Amino acid sequence: MKVLKFGGSSLADANQFKKVKDIALSDEERKYIVVSAPGKGVRSSHKVTDLLLMCYQLASHDLNFNEIYEIIEKTYKEIVDELELSVDIDKILKDIHGEIQNGASKDFTASRGEYINAILLADYLGWSFVDAKDIIFFNRGDLDEEKTEREISKVLQDSPYTVIPGFYGQDENGKIKTFSRGGSDITGSLIANALKSEIYENWTDVSGFLVADPKIVENSKTIDYITYRELRELSYMGAPVLHEDSIVPVKKYGIPINIRNTNAPSDKGTTIIPNYDDEKITNNITGIAGKRGFSVITIEKTFMNTEYGFFRKIMSVFETNEIPIEHMPSSIDTVSLIVDTGKIVEKLDKIIEEIKIYTNPKSISVEHGISLIAIVGKGMVNSKGTSGKIFTALGNNDVNVRMISQGSSELNIIIGVLDKDFEKAIKSIYEAFN
Ligand code: ASP
Repeated sequence: MKVLKFGGSSLADANQFKKVKDIALSDEERKYIVVSAPGKGVRSSHKVTDLLLMCYQLASHDLNFNEIYEIIEKTYKEIVDELELSVDIDKILKDIHGEIQNGASKDFTASRGEYINAILLADYLGWSFVDAKDIIFFNRGDLDEEKTEREISKVLQDSPYTVIPGFYGQDENGKIKTFSRGGSDITGSLIANALKSEIYENWTDVSGFLVADPKIVENSKTIDYITYRELRELSYMGAPVLHEDSIVPVKKYGIPINIRNTNAPSDKGTTIIPNYDDEKITNNITGIAGKRGFSVITIEKTFMNTEYGFFRKIMSVFETNEIPIEHMPSSIDTVSLIVDTGKIVEKLDKIIEEIKIYTNPKSISVEHGISLIAIVGKGMVNSKGTSGKIFTALGNNDVNVRMISQGSSELNIIIGVLDKDFEKAIKSIYEAFN
């Protein structure tokens, strides 16, 4: 049995609904579908969730929100008309309008995009509709995992061919509560987990993850397989597509997530798996991702490595100033702290002063304009020469490497280069392995 989730662009208009129907009905193991609200598409340039949030904002200031609400109405009415659905969309829209007008909460308002979309898709497929509020539960702000898992199996186990709205559930007071934005991915993952689905198919508008950013590497290959952990390493560097928290539920039973493209359904996409079988390791690098805008603070002090509590003192300066440290490579006499420039600029002078007071260093220097690049690949563990290949490629292309850090799990190598070399570095590494 398979659980599917369709994102907003996959359900943006009637034409997209048709594609979803073909996908759903082409495999009878596809038994549960989670939907997002309509997203950007050929006809609409706005996401319904954004429009709903705007309605809420206007309503909460006692302002008229009809102009915005009409765009939402048009989106749904067109779908209902073109697909000749039997849903009484006018009534649903009128009721929700009334609730927003009468002070509905922000989460309730935001959730209605998914709610309506699930009703429409269920009608179109001739499937049942189950409201997410009856299977997803929160308690004091957090997901109530146990209750959610229990209720999903209780309600859905014997009710195959069902559509469920993503993104929300109910809290301990019975009020609607949403996940953070993009949270329908989490709903799908929770359902796949509770029903022990064979696979969780996440349908979107790209055919999976690419090895490198296509804006930097033209025609980058698609990643066929990636482990949950590798994906975490890459998403830290900003490879969106999937909500970060959606990995956690399926991890429990090792259910694979398959990222698929609604607009190119025969593409295999990327499959996110718990671990590699050897034959799935095709290359010792899985993906390359990077981010600009870091600063390196280098502190020099002779024999710092033998001084008790030296690192703790530095850490406490960063901790009390609430600056997260991204990496901290060190040598006998120096330690470099790599931090997000945006987070430190305003406090930089204060921090330097505090480090001087606390640790009495020989020197402190700061360099801005550093990019971090993560080269991620489980295969690195078992292959010799991966780093040799990376640094040869960088050297041959005249990229000066300012920092190197290899995670102890050998899952990744992170390098720091000057911002000006960012794209060149990613291109050279990609080419060395492909
Ligand atoms: N519709 C919500 C959003 O735009 C949730 C989702 O699409 O997953 O964030």
